[in-house]
Amino acid sequence: MALTGVEIFKLLPKTNCKKCGFPTCLAFAMKLAQRQASLDLCPDVSEEAKQKLGEASAPPVRPITLGSGDKAVKMGEETVLFRHDKRFVNPCVFALEIKDTLAEDDINIKVNEVIESEIDRVGQKLRIDAIAIINDSNDAVKFEAAAKVIATKAPGIPVIICTVNPQAAEAAIKQFADEKPIIYGVNSGNAEAMANIAKTYKAILGITASSAFGGSGGGLDEISTLTEKVKSMGVEDMVIDSGARKAKEIIEHNTLARRAAIKKNFKPLGYPVITFAQREDNLVELLISVVGVAKYSSIIVLSSIEKWKNLAMFTLRQNIYTDPQVPMQVEQKVYKIGEPLPESPLFITTNFSLTYFIVSGEVENSKVASYLAVMDCEGLSVLTAWAAGKFTAAKIAQFIKEAGIENEIKHRELIIPGYVAILSGAIEDKLEGWKVTVGPREANGIPAFLRSRMAGK
Ligand code: SF4
Repeated sequence: MALTGVEIFKLLPKTNCKKCGFPTCLAFAMKLAQRQASLDLCPDVSEEAKQKLGEASAPPVRPITLGSGDKAVKMGEETVLFRHDKRFVNPCVFALEIKDTLAEDDINIKVNEVIESEIDRVGQKLRIDAIAIINDSNDAVKFEAAAKVIATKAPGIPVIICTVNPQAAEAAIKQFADEKPIIYGVNSGNAEAMANIAKTYKAILGITASSAFGGSGGGLDEISTLTEKVKSMGVEDMVIDSGARKAKEIIEHNTLARRAAIKKNFKPLGYPVITFAQREDNLVELLISVVGVAKYSSIIVLSSIEKWKNLAMFTLRQNIYTDPQVPMQVEQKVYKIGEPLPESPLFITTNFSLTYFIVSGEVENSKVASYLAVMDCEGLSVLTAWAAGKFTAAKIAQFIKEAGIENEIKHRELIIPGYVAILSGAIEDKLEGWKVTVGPREANGIPAFLRSRMAGK
């Protein structure tokens, strides 16, 4: 069970030295109890207390990093059941399955699809993050050969080695030494052999219930026994698969596991969940993935990559894993779109990420190099910022004066969003010598707006 603030306080040095950044040990203890601070902040805590508190203050879902280097992905570390309670921490990982029964050319095609899956959306790079190599052949030699092709073609991409055969697992994992892969397929029969391989190669273990392979029973009970067993063998980093394959079971099992971990601090189920969403029908596969994204899966394995499917999944994942308390925003400054000259147009908008990326994208599409002044309105969109009194004539005028743009441009014309046309007169009053032009209401009108200006010149 989680410790209360007072129980934690009893284990702290009680000197109120403030080195942790909190005024008293009690204040720090309260923050630890709410999992809003890390124990490392107190340099004077004893080893004995560290051990007791380490367990208690650890996130209920164990943080695990899959892969190494710049493509490594973090999983787990979740502390709430519902996103609006605080936030979800580590976005789920999408992995493409590659079966070892495929010909080398086909494996290469699939690996390329993973490499080329990356897109940029509102300033974030989104991609298929990992590859799940499936030992479909049941043959260790074939599995090793497929692993070799993938390791050569896709260095650095995190992998999940899927086999119940320890010999095949060891043959494949040698291709990914020190790259922190997952060996998925650990059951009560092979746990010891798999744990030894994981310790040798510093791998994560994927714990499976017997129902994952068509057996009966199992589920979360079997998983919790197995994770404890594997932990006693010296492996702490695990992901779990209860065998749930239907949407209803995925929601049920994932919710039970998350609830047990967070509400009861039940450690045997406090691990990231892996969900196998592969289906013949792409639309059904997408729907299963969506269930996983929304309900606690940390890894979702897919059978194929389709751009439309990726876009839907990426967008949903991005929305769910955005902190609801912090609007996505960009830095306040004057951005250059293309290579603007002193005569180039100057637009102004607010610093809500989506607004910035849509407006800058449309200016870019127009092929007219421009300046885009982005004003800090605490991440609010144009109309909301105006209604909240953050995008007013006085504030816009002050920002333009302080931004230094007057030294870069020859003209004195500011193009404001059509939605705040009402501000044009007031801005002209406050910005002496400036002319305010009302731009389009929607960003998609910018290319036509700029074209008609060019034609009129
Ligand atoms: S650093 Fe440690 S001893 Fe000092 S106030 Fe914080 S919790 Fe107390």
